[in-house]
Amino acid sequence: MKVTRKDFLKTGALLSGGLFFGSNKMFSNLQTQTYIFKELRNNIGIFTERGGTIGWHATNDGVVVIDAQYPETAKNLIAALQQKTSHKIDVLFNTHHHGDHTSGNIFLKDYAGKIVAHENCKMLQEKNDKKDPAKPQAYATLTFKETWGAQIGNEKVTAKYFGPAHTSGDSVIHFEDADIAHVGDLVFNQTFPFIDSNGGGSIKLWYETLGKIINHYSKDTLFIFGHAISESLLTGSIADIVNMRSYLGALAEHVESEIQKGKSKEEIAAAEIPGFANLKERWQGARKMNLEKAYDELVKK
Ligand SMILES: [Zn+2]
Repeated sequence: MKVTRKDFLKTGALLSGGLFFGSNKMFSNLQTQTYIFKELRNNIGIFTERGGTIGWHATNDGVVVIDAQYPETAKNLIAALQQKTSHKIDVLFNTHHHGDHTSGNIFLKDYAGKIVAHENCKMLQEKNDKKDPAKPQAYATLTFKETWGAQIGNEKVTAKYFGPAHTSGDSVIHFEDADIAHVGDLVFNQTFPFIDSNGGGSIKLWYETLGKIINHYSKDTLFIFGHAISESLLTGSIADIVNMRSYLGALAEHVESEIQKGKSKEEIAAAEIPGFANLKERWQGARKMNLEKAYDELVKK
């Protein structure tokens, strides 16, 4: 398993007794709780530890979980949910197939009535997992093409497919009564996104799909994002979706005009994106990767 920076810091803190940070508060946080389990409104909230943000709805009449992170973090999610209710998970949704959203399915399946995802999500997850057959996986037990919904406890929950974007199998899960929607990795809030062209993702289609999402939800909808540049930006409003769409539009437009000027892929990938010079990377090389993906997509068409 790949050791992430966060894992490394955690290990570093444990080995050095916290002096590594010079902060006992931070040390004790890492020791006692490595995750955040936070309510937003109407018994709906987010869980963050490692991987894509998990959304949850927990009452004594119904429990919904959106995305699964990893088996070891999904275990912490279950412990936190059990503080709120003894009700089992009625539905576990996967917003899309990426491992940081689905690897925990294998742990959560024993607590969940069903796992629901878009048909392409399941197909892409199975395709990916063939490359690593040693790793046990669990897949959606119910798939949909356009939309799937259910009344769970006091919430009407609807999953909807708007078209290819980050992958070809992203869906949005909406708690209609609370008006909270989890958009998975359709939004990387205020940071460069990962564009999965091998998984059917496309900058141009992502731009179009976000347009449909902006039209479908309202200014009052509270959104949960799969990733963000900081913890506090993991939730937001339709304005954040508009920003994300503007970024994708600017990226495609800029690279298209650079290609027209006869610039090479290397030259294009080394420069800034006009209007987004202050956008921060979550991993080194993210901006370059975005520019290269845009180049490949535009040259291929
Ligand atoms: Zn993803």
